[in-house]
Amino acid sequence: MTDDRWLIVLAWQLDRLRWVPDEVLDEVVRRDGTCMHAGVEGEPDWNEEHLTDRALAARLCAGCPVQDECLELELRTAGEHTVGVWGALVEDDRRALHWYWRQRGERAEGGSR
Ligand code: SF4
Repeated sequence: MTDDRWLIVLAWQLDRLRWVPDEVLDEVVRRDGTCMHAGVEGEPDWNEEHLTDRALAARLCAGCPVQDECLELELRTAGEHTVGVWGALVEDDRRALHWYWRQRGERAEGGSR
């Protein structure tokens, strides 16, 4: 049995964003997301390092100031069909998180995606 406590804590952490409109989250992530400003000269080519998805997520998203906003937006828009690296998590972790995220507040009352 896996220990999902960290997912429960993360779902709880995202509650603070539950009333933030999608458009606002999208604007914040596009403006402040670290990966949105990639391609800076001198940046390593991570594709050549054959990183695992988890290692890529850790590196790509390290220090990003909008990890929670990115994660909340991805859970809302892609839900359990999420793919790739978003919000500092790989897709398997986000899919597992999605179940817990949906159990919270109004999402559990049928108002969620
Ligand atoms: S959390 Fe990661 S994927 Fe999301 S905006 Fe930040 S760097 Fe990009």
